[in-house]
Order: sequence, then C-alpha cells, then structure tokens
Amino acid sequence: FKLSDYDVIIIGAGPAGATAAAMLAQAGKSVIVLERQHFPRFSIGESLLPQCMIYLEEAGLLNAVNTEALALGFQLKNGAVFHHKGEHVFFDFEKKSSLGPGTTYQVKRELFDSLLANGAADYGAEIHHGYTVKAVDFSDPDFVAVEAEHDSDGSTHLIRGSYLLDASGFGRVLPRLLKLEYPSDFPVRQAAFCHVKTDLSGGAFDRNKILITVHPTKPEIWFWLIPFADGTASIGVVGGVEYFAHNRDAKDALWQRINEETHLLEVLGDYRVIRPEQMITGYSANVRTLYGDRFALLGNAGEFLDPVFSSGVTIALKSSSLAVPLVLRELNGEFVDWEKDYSVALRKGISTFHSFVKGWYDTRFQKVIFYKQQQTEVKAMICSILAGYAWDTDNPYVRESKRRLNVLAELCSS
Ligand code: FAD
Repeated sequence: FKLSDYDVIIIGAGPAGATAAAMLAQAGKSVIVLERQHFPRFSIGESLLPQCMIYLEEAGLLNAVNTEALALGFQLKNGAVFHHKGEHVFFDFEKKSSLGPGTTYQVKRELFDSLLANGAADYGAEIHHGYTVKAVDFSDPDFVAVEAEHDSDGSTHLIRGSYLLDASGFGRVLPRLLKLEYPSDFPVRQAAFCHVKTDLSGGAFDRNKILITVHPTKPEIWFWLIPFADGTASIGVVGGVEYFAHNRDAKDALWQRINEETHLLEVLGDYRVIRPEQMITGYSANVRTLYGDRFALLGNAGEFLDPVFSSGVTIALKSSSLAVPLVLRELNGEFVDWEKDYSVALRKGISTFHSFVKGWYDTRFQKVIFYKQQQTEVKAMICSILAGYAWDTDNPYVRESKRRLNVLAELCSS
C-alpha cells in the first residue's frame, strides 16, 4: 500500500476497529486498518447485547448483520437465563426499562468480525491483513508514524497519519508501547471453553437466550452455554486461577468442572467437540488513560472487565461510537475535551458493569438475580443493564450502581 499519509490509522480490525473505520470512511476520511491476523480468524466473545445494535446501526453495519444473520448461523438472542442448583431465572430483554432494541445475536466471531471488516472496506476503509504494529512515533508534530511488519516476508512498513486509534484488543499495543498499563482491580481469573456440535435436545432449553449456570458449590465459578443457529454451541467455564491449579490442560479444566454440574451435561445431550478446548488466563486489564496527544484507545485496548455479562463487544462498539465524532472534530481543528466527552462518558457504562461484575463474584448480585419476590419494576431496570444499557442514566441502577446494588442485595438477603 502507499506510504503516504492517512487521516486516521487504526490498529486492529476487531469490532472496535472495524466500526470506527466504517464511520470514519463514511465521513470522507482516509483510513487504514492494520490487522496482524488473516480473517476469518477465531475470537472469543460470541454473545452480543441488544445495546450494541444501536452502535452497529450508527456505523452503517446493522443492515449487513441482519441480512447475513441467517446464512452465517447467527442465533437470535432475546435474553439470559441464570441457573443455580435447579433454580432458573429468566430475563426477557424486551422487558427492560430502557428504550432501544431488545434482541441481538450470538455470533461466531470469525464470521461476525469478517462481516464488519468487509463492511468497513465497502465504505472505503483500507484494511490490510498480516501487518503487526511494532512501534509508534509521535515525535513529529505533523504526523504520527507507525511501523508495521508484514508476516509474509518480515518486511517493515512505515505508515503516517494525523491520528491513531488503537483497537488492538488483548494485543494492547499502545498501552504496552506508551507504558499506559494499569492493573485491573479484579483478581486473576481463567476461562476454558470449546465449541460443540449438539442439537441441545437433552433438557429444557431456550435457545434464544444465553444460559449462565452457577457452579453448585462454588459460586465464584460459572459456565456459559451460547447456542448458534447451525446446530453448534459455545460452552465455557470461568473461575479464579486457584480453581484450575491442578488441571493438566484446557480440556481437563473444562470437562472436570462441567462434570460437576449435572444440569449442564443434561442440556448438552449428545455432543461432539468440534473446536478444541482452549484456555485464557488473566484477561482483565486497565489503563492509566484512554487518550493522549493524537491517539485514543478503543475497546479492549483500553479496559476489559470480565466475560460474565457479555459486555465486551458492546463496550468496544460504544468506544468507537464516542471516539469517532471527536476524532472528526480534532481533524477539523476544533478543541476536543477528551476527558469529559470520551473517558468520563465511556467509563460511566464500564463502571456500571464493574459494580455488577464485582457483585456477581462476591455473590451480592447473584442473590438479587435468584431472589424469588423481585419487583417487576426493579427487574426491568436490572434487565436493562443485562441488555447492555449501562449508559442509560435514567436508570437508577446505572446512575448510582454501587449504592443501589448494595441496598438491593441487602433487601434480597433478608
Ligand atoms: P478484539 O476483538 O480483540 O480485536 C483486536 C484485533 O487487533 C485482533 O483482530 C488482533 O489480531 C488485532 N491486533 C492485536 N495486536 C495487533 C498488532 N500489534 N498489530 C495489528 N493488529 C493487532 N464479549 C462479548 O461481548 N460477549 C461475550 O460473550 C464475551 N465473552 C468473552 C469470554 C472470554 C473468556 C473473554 C476473555 C472475553 C469475552 N468477551 C465477550 C470480550 C470480547 O472478546 C472482547 O471484549 C472484544 O472482542 C473486544 O473487541 P475489540 O475490537 O476491542 O478487540
């Protein structure tokens, strides 16, 4: 590709990078995305939240997602079911208190991410695969320089742009290069997962909902079951590293835990593993700052909390939705208050999820979920957060998530 200047360089073509690229290209900006992998490629993070449909629409990519959903085996998702020791609690996202879509999809990420990246390319973004960003240089006041290595021959390429967006996810390129890493306040947890072929006919199961199962004796351990529309499903277990210390490998870690949870085995029915077990450890991450002189961090390149409420892609898309209009203003020579309009605005929703993730693992939020006499109005507000509407400050559980959750948990425990 040309060694010339771009308005914006984006590192990574995951959901954050692709949606930002689509928006910038539609705004008439020259944008290049450097992606180290060749698509389609597997990624974890398969259950979306209804809130993210709004951001896909803003990026001009929702039509493509809806049109291709059937062909690509995306499973309609309209809620979540929580299960613990025979107790089932259903959340129907249409019954949330916030305005906005109440359904979304569970997606195979290799197909979903390719669809978004192709959509961005159709709008005119240049997407280059096999390019790993190795270094950045902000020393010239006129441009940002990025050095990328191509995987075919190890050749090095220098790309210049006016602005740099890091959407490298767990690659965390700028946090590492600019020393922005900041420890997450969550303990180190681990996830083991795989894909199975199963028609899920083994037990009563609503395939339009994600199934979250709490381990029968260790409430800090939980399982996900995410069905796809093509007769396959994703299954995984999450817990503190200490619970997996004696496991030999990912396969052992996953199936030993699942064997302790008879209901899940029943739901799985006859299954066959079609994507081998895999393990990820220590994925929670944070940064000192989400922006700086001529750069901003999107999605997981900034903060990642935890998989439990499937908030990752939604936060990634929200970050693009907030950052792109600011980049456009900055390219236009206008003053931009990145602290207020990006960092504080994005972190509002992240901190909502943070309160509920914390409450999940110390079991305060589990008590709320499994409380039998939950008021309909309160359940609708909780449902909104589970549907991803974590920035809706009309919801008191968003406005004052920490305090409200504490009060509610006490009520549900008494
Ligand atoms: P990514 O999707 O990670 O994309 C980053 C891209 O950058 C990649 O394609 C990568 O190849 C590229 N890249 C990295 N380094 C470089 C480099 N140096 N140069 C060039 N390119 C580079 N989220 C959900 O919404 N729902 C879920 O159900 C869910 N489940 C999860 C389960 C687990 C166990 C974990 C750990 C996470 C889960 N997540 C889930 C989170 C989800 O995976 C992420 O939040 C989401 O993928 C973030 O999107 P992103 O665009 O920021 O980054």
